[in-house]
Amino acid sequence: MQNPVAIIVGAGPSGLATSACLNQHSIPHILLEREDCYASLWKKYSYDRLRLHLRKQFCELPHMSFPDSYPTYVPKDQFLQYLDDYVSHFKISPMYQRSVEFASFDEEAKKWNVKARNVSSGEIEEYSARFLVVASGETSNPFIPKFEGLNTFTGEVIHSTGFKNGKTYCDKNVLVVGSGNSGMEIALDLANHGARTSIAIRSALPHSIAEAGQLGIEYVEVFISVAWWTTLCCLPRTVSSFRCPRSLHQNQVRRDPVLPALESIRGNEVVFENGKSLPFDTIVFCTGFERSTNKWLKGDDYLLNEDGIPKPSYLTIGRGRTVCIVLDYRGEVCMELAPMHRM
Ligand SMILES: Cc1cc2nc3c(=O)[nH]c(=O)nc-3n(C[C@H](O)[C@H](O)[C@H](O)COP(=O)(O)OP(=O)(O)OC[C@H]3O[C@@H](n4cnc5c(N)ncnc54)[C@H](O)[C@@H]3O)c2cc1C
Repeated sequence: MQNPVAIIVGAGPSGLATSACLNQHSIPHILLEREDCYASLWKKYSYDRLRLHLRKQFCELPHMSFPDSYPTYVPKDQFLQYLDDYVSHFKISPMYQRSVEFASFDEEAKKWNVKARNVSSGEIEEYSARFLVVASGETSNPFIPKFEGLNTFTGEVIHSTGFKNGKTYCDKNVLVVGSGNSGMEIALDLANHGARTSIAIRSALPHSIAEAGQLGIEYVEVFISVAWWTTLCCLPRTVSSFRCPRSLHQNQVRRDPVLPALESIRGNEVVFENGKSLPFDTIVFCTGFERSTNKWLKGDDYLLNEDGIPKPSYLTIGRGRTVCIVLDYRGEVCMELAPMHRM
């Protein structure tokens, strides 16, 4: 497109919502997405049993409600159907396989210059526009902490983004590291499929529960989460359970379902903070993501800290929340969108 007014980076739900709003006002823009599809987190990098973790009224995009027939916690497939309808209704056309590697504001031209690598040709393409919309999400790069001996682990190591379901893990010893929403759900899925599942929990109260309180999610939901977590932790430490079907219990070797933080790894043995060591076939790291915006958005020192989190208080938002910043030619935030999380 010649002379777009805005460049949007990222075609996740935030980028799609921004594009829809701009289309509504006939504002010319381009939408650059590094993957070969929109909403790649949901289409390619999430597990099968995933549902929206928040109730549907908090997750719908502007100008289109979820169908009434959708349940309160929308399953992944229905959410993707909703996004498909959204994209075709608002005639959104992302430019795929464009990975943005650089963006800076040209003070003289009063324009943002953006360089994107065309992933299929390898060429660098250049774009410029008055506005830049950063909609690249908080889940850009899967994060696995560095553990001593991780490279010596003889089994399989995956990140939660690579986990689909527990079908292939029946009778395997699987360690889930991290007790956020993904960790809890993946552990449950593994146990339901007959894997001998343990979960390593570092902090006294899982982040997701603590955060739910901060986000003002209704107390009843927080209460349910706390109750579920407390029950989990109070399980007899020798029973591998997690709502495992009765028949599976017969095959379960006695293992600790809840373990403290990992300390190191030696071959197939994982050593925990309490000195205990256990063998595992697979480790699933549900340890979150690293933000990458601060690597390519230049001159943004006043906006993002070194972790890529917005500095200004009115953009201070919790982990797992959509980040979407629109900058005008002075670099000021002229529009703020967090369509998935309006509360
Ligand atoms: C397991 C899980 C469950 C969740 N449940 C909920 C929920 O119930 N409700 C809720 O509101 N949120 C939930 N979230 C949070 C999730 O981040 C949001 O749902 C939503 O996907 C955020 O949308 P986004 O567009 O901001 O970011 P993303 O969905 O992460 O999209 C960002 C897009 O930008 C692209 N991109 C990144 N960097 C570049 C680059 N340099 N160049 C070009 N493109 C780039 C990515 O490929 C991606 O397509 C969940 C997240 C996870 C992992």
